Amino acid sequence: MEEVILLKLGEVVLKGLNRRNFEDILMRNVRRRLNKFGEFEVYSIQSTVYVIPKNPEADLDAAADAVKKVFGVVGYARAAACEKEIGDIQRKAAEYLAEELRKAKTFKVETKRSDKKFPLTSPEVSNLVGGYILEKNPHLSVDVHQPDFTVRVEVRENAAYIHTNTKLAAGGIPVGTGGKAAILISGGLDSPVAAWMMAKRGVELTAIHFASPPYTSELAHQKVENLLKKVGEYAGRMTMITVELTDLQVEIRDKCPEDLGTVLLRRYMLKAAEKIAASQKCAALITGESLGQVASQTMQAIACTDAVVDMPVFRPLIGMDKSEIIKIAREIETYNISIEPYEDCCTIFTPKHPATRPKIAKLEAAEKLIDGDKMLDEAIEKMKYTEIK
Ligand code: ATP
Ligand code: MG
Repeated sequence: MEEVILLKLGEVVLKGLNRRNFEDILMRNVRRRLNKFGEFEVYSIQSTVYVIPKNPEADLDAAADAVKKVFGVVGYARAAACEKEIGDIQRKAAEYLAEELRKAKTFKVETKRSDKKFPLTSPEVSNLVGGYILEKNPHLSVDVHQPDFTVRVEVRENAAYIHTNTKLAAGGIPVGTGGKAAILISGGLDSPVAAWMMAKRGVELTAIHFASPPYTSELAHQKVENLLKKVGEYAGRMTMITVELTDLQVEIRDKCPEDLGTVLLRRYMLKAAEKIAASQKCAALITGESLGQVASQTMQAIACTDAVVDMPVFRPLIGMDKSEIIKIAREIETYNISIEPYEDCCTIFTPKHPATRPKIAKLEAAEKLIDGDKMLDEAIEKMKYTEIK
């Protein structure tokens, strides 16, 4: 029996004239994601995307697992393809769903007929398929209001399909329809979730990570790569750019007022990120900041970091509680990686009493004590690329 995957599209269908473009990008993303699981044909008709294995080697289980993480897909169902002939539909419905029908006590059949040339109406198809299933499964009875199990029949242009309930998929809009932005990624809990949230709104990502070896280790870097791989299951492939800030951090620690250390570092990080982002054709920055979470995330501190860049800085977690962030981190499976105990450049040299209400004038005065911009440019010149697949 030929089994396929049907993808239901969400907001994509609401985009009017852009719809074709949105669907094309979504299908390109689906195709890319399926590449490593075999050969599939992917096409769309009437807001449903069809994923059809081209040969028995194609791994449908892995494909189903991958496509449910493609943004723009709100639901998915595995389905059996039938001839557009009632006898075949009846037989395949009973056979394909045999296991579920055996376990159920009550069921109903729901038919959708988008091919209006098909000789039977939807209620007629439901009756004929229901009757056949009852004959084969005498323990069942029909309950149209609250059945244990619903058999869904879709009669479409090229074939008919049998499936049961559609399962929930990632939702959102296709990555690549919302521009490109740079996520400032640490090894923490928050920034991977922030990356995922913006990708969900169609944003293609480039990742920027700041490291300070030898204070931060190779394992810390590997951890960030692993986080991005997880995010990439939803966001697609991306480039990770690593910039080493050791010299600058040591300079700040040695020459600037201790209580301003964190905010000074954050200002330099944003400046570097903006330059790198522009060179990667990104139009915005993304961080995992949440208001009031730590000293550098007070309204005043955020104002001081934003003051050094012109690009918009998106902070999708700004109004979220830690528990809400953790819930998403668990869902997207970044949680267990994030809690691995490796140091981040933001957690070395942290001041004992960081300023929670820093003033721009004081920060600017502190910045005059070092040649930070020059050190930043030198660091950017040596940045390294890692491809996340
Ligand atoms: P996270 O859990 O993502 O590490 P956090 O709550 O620990 O965030 P901070 O360490 O203050 O907060 O960092 C705030 C944001 O700054 C992070 O969400 C991230 O976007 C960015 N950031 C922090 N450290 C780095 C780093 N080493 N490289 C790149 N960006 C970073
Ligand atoms: Mg952090």
